Amino acid sequence: MSQTNTPQRYRIGERDTNDRYPVDVDGAPAGHIYRWHKVWRTVVPGQEETRHPSAESAAEEVTKLVDAGALTDPSASGPAEASQTPDHALLLDLRLQPTAGNIRSAAIAHARIAELAWQPLAGYPGADNHWRMRCLICPPRWEGDRYWSHLRGRNNDRIPRPRYRHEGCIPVPEHAGKLALLVKPAPSCFCPAAHPTTADAAAVLLKSVARARRVRDTEALTGHLTRLLGPCPAATARAAAIEAALEAAKS
Ligand SMILES: [Zn+2]
Ligand SMILES: [Zn+2]
Repeated sequence: MSQTNTPQRYRIGERDTNDRYPVDVDGAPAGHIYRWHKVWRTVVPGQEETRHPSAESAAEEVTKLVDAGALTDPSASGPAEASQTPDHALLLDLRLQPTAGNIRSAAIAHARIAELAWQPLAGYPGADNHWRMRCLICPPRWEGDRYWSHLRGRNNDRIPRPRYRHEGCIPVPEHAGKLALLVKPAPSCFCPAAHPTTADAAAVLLKSVARARRVRDTEALTGHLTRLLGPCPAATARAAAIEAALEAAKS
C-alpha cells in the first residue's frame, strides 16, 4: 500500500501549561490538540473545534485543516485570543459553562482544595481533567496537575487518594499538623468583595450569573463568578451556601 509509506506530516509536541499539545504540520506550527472528557479536540485558528478518539486522529485532522487552507501561524491569532480571555477563566475553566450546577461543583472543589492547602493555578476543569495547582505545605512549592476526582475522596469520605501529594513533599504523617497551622477556614466573609455565605445571598448571585449569561455581559459575569468562586477565607461556608441555595430552588 502506497499510503503506509507516506511520511507522517504532523508532529505532536510536549504538553504546555494549559494542557494543550502543539501540533506542527510539515514543520510549521498549525494549532493544538487537547484531551477533554476522554475525547481529543483540535484547536486551529479560525476553525471549529473537532472531536476525535485519539491524539493521532486529532493531529491528522489538524493536517487536513491546514491542507484546506487553515492559517499555519497560530501567532497570527494568538494574542487576540488571549486578550479575550475573561478573568473568571482562572476560577472556572472556559470549557465549562457557568451553569448553577458547574458553579456548585467548582465552589465545593475550590473550598476543599483550599482546606488541603493546594492553590489553584487554573480554573476548575471538572472532576476528571487535569487541574494545575501549587502545593502550599512544602518549601519547594511544587506545581503540577492533579485531579479533583482524586482529591475529593471516595463516597464523600473527603480523603485524597493517594495520600501522598507529590515527589519531594513533606511526609504524609506530617500533613495534618501542617494543614492545621496553614488553613483556618472562617465562618463568614469579611472581604471587600462580600462573598456570599448565606443561601439567600448565593441565590441572588446565581440569578445574576444566569442573567449575565443570557445577555452575554462578560464583565458582569466575571464579577459575579469572582464573588462565587474567588479566593475567600470563608470558601467552605460559601460552598455550603451555594448548595443550600440550589436545594431550596428545587423545593
Ligand atoms: Zn508539597
Ligand atoms: Zn470573602
